[in-house]
Amino acid sequence: MTSKQFDIVVIGGGIHGAGVAQAAAAHGYSVLVLEQSSIAAGTSSRSSKLIHGGLRYLESAQFTLVRECLYERSLLLKNAPELVELKPFYIPLYSDTSRTAWQVRAGLALYSTLGGFSTENRFKLVPRKDWDKLDGLEREDLQRVFRYYDAQTDDKLLTEAVMRSAQSLGAELQMPAEFIGAERSGKHYIVRYRTGMQKVECHARLLINAAGAWVNDVLNKISPEVTGLDIDLIQGTHIILEGTVNQGIYYIEAPEDKRAVFVMPWKDKLMVGTTESFFHGNPAKVIPLAKEKAYLMETLGCYFPRYRQITHQDIVESFAGLRVLPKTDGAAFSRPRDTLFHTDQTDDPRLVSIYGGKLTVYRATAQKLIDEFSFVLPGRKIVADTRNLALTPQ
Ligand SMILES: Cc1cc2nc3c(=O)[nH]c(=O)nc-3n(C[C@H](O)[C@H](O)[C@H](O)COP(=O)(O)OP(=O)(O)OC[C@H]3O[C@@H](n4cnc5c(N)ncnc54)[C@H](O)[C@@H]3O)c2cc1C
Repeated sequence: MTSKQFDIVVIGGGIHGAGVAQAAAAHGYSVLVLEQSSIAAGTSSRSSKLIHGGLRYLESAQFTLVRECLYERSLLLKNAPELVELKPFYIPLYSDTSRTAWQVRAGLALYSTLGGFSTENRFKLVPRKDWDKLDGLEREDLQRVFRYYDAQTDDKLLTEAVMRSAQSLGAELQMPAEFIGAERSGKHYIVRYRTGMQKVECHARLLINAAGAWVNDVLNKISPEVTGLDIDLIQGTHIILEGTVNQGIYYIEAPEDKRAVFVMPWKDKLMVGTTESFFHGNPAKVIPLAKEKAYLMETLGCYFPRYRQITHQDIVESFAGLRVLPKTDGAAFSRPRDTLFHTDQTDDPRLVSIYGGKLTVYRATAQKLIDEFSFVLPGRKIVADTRNLALTPQ
């Protein structure tokens, strides 16, 4: 058995693991990432692929989160222009839409203010004469269409780019490498992982659990025992169909439950999502449910009449990802989306587990984590500022 010492060992090669590795390496720390499968194999390749402020979070008064998301969006547009693209978003309003034109206008005005009034934060009403250019959007009873801007990415490519950026700053990656256990020993953890037929041991001054939906499974392998947070895993499904929309992304409301659904172009095809269903079991086994696909097809057909006759056979591809949400009584859709850090100890934390989070703010989340817990690590010379690091596709 070999044993190497790292300042930080990260479990998980999703956007949070890659982000923490990048922020840690930029801070001058030695860092190792363990990923059991491949980069972005979990939720980080199954998201809605939006780099957005989260317009609907304004309704639950999550202003700080929206402002932070819009700031991170502006950084990504600057640092990753080949991976993150600004797109027009359209909100059509009909007489039975749950939000009134006045509410949407007020929301967009606030969104624009929180984003800092730049060009990418403009919004407007689309004139009636231009409605026939909107990709065959249902015109009957259409009252208004608002247009604003947000961004779209390829979540898998973005995560890979962040991981490469971390590696270029010295981070190490072991993959496939399954974390199998860790024991706290004074001021560090002895970490064990399996790679191929080999079992390897290393030492971490700080162990980061960025295992996404597996967060509590990882905690169960750690001693002394650390009780995790009570969570729900909520699955969200997307479907991909032939055809596309050319004007941008449509932000529509599902007739069944008034939830937001996005209709977006995706690699010359059409992607529609998402849903929210409780999930129990092994996160690796999450698959789209027939009822979720039916819900998305029905919602699409309501707004785009040419898709009214589609059946399950017309679905080219579908995928499901898992959200980690702290357990509360409220509906999943309206729960806060803040990211939580959970530690093994308050006075001398050597293990930090990441719960929840958003792709859009991965950098800010990672930076906060490093800033908050660097007091347990030796001083190192900072080598880069993650706000200025370019991210490029390979
Ligand atoms: C349906 C859906 C849509 C979303 N859409 C958006 C969006 O449009 N915009 C946005 O900003 N956010 C969005 N999000 C949120 C965002 O996608 C997630 O917060 C983010 O991808 C989670 O990343 P993660 O790194 O925490 O987890 P993951 O990406 O799941 O990564 C965890 C990694 O840990 C690895 N792992 C687990 N156990 C072990 C082990 N024992 N050893 C080694 N490795 C292990 C897994 O293989 C996996 O690769 C969405 C989420 C969902 C569910």
